[in-house]
Amino acid sequence: MFQGHRREAFELNTQFPFEASSIRAVALSHAHLDHSGNLPLLVKKGFNGVIHATSATADLCQYMLADSAFLQEKDAAFLEKRHKRRLAIGVAVEGAPVPPLYTVADAENAMRHFRPSPRHQKIDAGPNATIELRNAGHILGSSCILFEYAMNGRKIRLLFSGDLGRPSVPILQPPDEAPSADYLIVESTYGDRIHEPITTVADKLARLIRKTSERGGHVIVPAFAVGRTQELVLLLHQLAEQRLIPDIPLFVDSPLAINVTDVFRKHPEEYSSDLLGFTESGKDPFGFHRLRYLREASESKALNDLRMPYVVISASGMCEGGRILHHLRNGIEDPRNLVLITGFQAQNTLGRRLVERHPEVNIFGEPMALRAEVAVLNELSAHADQQDLVRWIRPIASELKGVFLVHGEPAAQDALRAVLKEQLGVEARSPVRGDSAELGGG
Ligand SMILES: [Zn+2]
Repeated sequence: MFQGHRREAFELNTQFPFEASSIRAVALSHAHLDHSGNLPLLVKKGFNGVIHATSATADLCQYMLADSAFLQEKDAAFLEKRHKRRLAIGVAVEGAPVPPLYTVADAENAMRHFRPSPRHQKIDAGPNATIELRNAGHILGSSCILFEYAMNGRKIRLLFSGDLGRPSVPILQPPDEAPSADYLIVESTYGDRIHEPITTVADKLARLIRKTSERGGHVIVPAFAVGRTQELVLLLHQLAEQRLIPDIPLFVDSPLAINVTDVFRKHPEEYSSDLLGFTESGKDPFGFHRLRYLREASESKALNDLRMPYVVISASGMCEGGRILHHLRNGIEDPRNLVLITGFQAQNTLGRRLVERHPEVNIFGEPMALRAEVAVLNELSAHADQQDLVRWIRPIASELKGVFLVHGEPAAQDALRAVLKEQLGVEARSPVRGDSAELGGG
């Protein structure tokens, strides 16, 4: 699912370059909406096959797709209402509001097509075709996908990295090694960057919270409900235990994050050894007495006029919808507050404009002055950096007949392409929407 500019994203998301009913099966790498978010529309347009994904991914999608539909319906209703109000007083407005891509009922329909599939097993995916899921270490349930297709007595192996994680993150097991393949489609989000070591993140986070609290401000943290929120909760737990952060209220304001946290509790098979150690010592890694999860909208609104310092973690992670928008609308004009960015922010998102410190940003279509401090913690990234990607590809580099870079902006792809050529002798391509390539020739 394309995210960003409403109208543009709507166009891209509704135009499929294929007939939905002609697709036999879908293999889904992980639950993040940029990967899973358009499945309800695929089903609505006639797809009638199976969606293969790990059990954790299927459980996450159940909540995430419904939440995505709910927010789209709510946003559309809000914009529609305002549109009508403005027309009524004769204010010129541009075009009709964009409708939702799909409804909650469509999201529920899509869930009926999911088939939870184990990792490391060949799964039948139609005539002469199998898929196999491997751990990608990116978020709970995330997988790389090996697609094998037999043709004229020869087998073609296409590996899709999905989004690839990092070797050492607090919650998940490290990514599996890349299996042998002929062709590789690989993500390149951080193809031009090397992350700071994760060991420094706790110190930085503690310092930022102390500083903001001392000046009486709020710490507003946009975070993906899946993964980033749970990592932050675990970090805050550890910092509170060590008394490295002041005794101020800590909130997770996201009904989705509450449901997602339940899914995390249900899947200990995905935990890293560190996290298993933490749970075995009797502690709850996803909650502690100082932290409150807010489910009701009235609880969320209660923060609006709370004058004391506090920390609030809320979704969506790129500030494109959800309750975080209300916290930002309330908070970004006050220089005492801190907006703490903890994940990748795509082009054309509000999150990206905050990172770039635009002096004025639009929230719900209204211009607001950005006076709050903005800080970025990239250490928590769930994406492999340039060296992680090179390390992951290296063992299979000599067999690869073709490499395609996706999921990265042009600068990231250019940098990764140069490094792959220089360090591994691999010629990678950067396909654009609508390109096709022939596999299995030569
Ligand atoms: Zn992802």
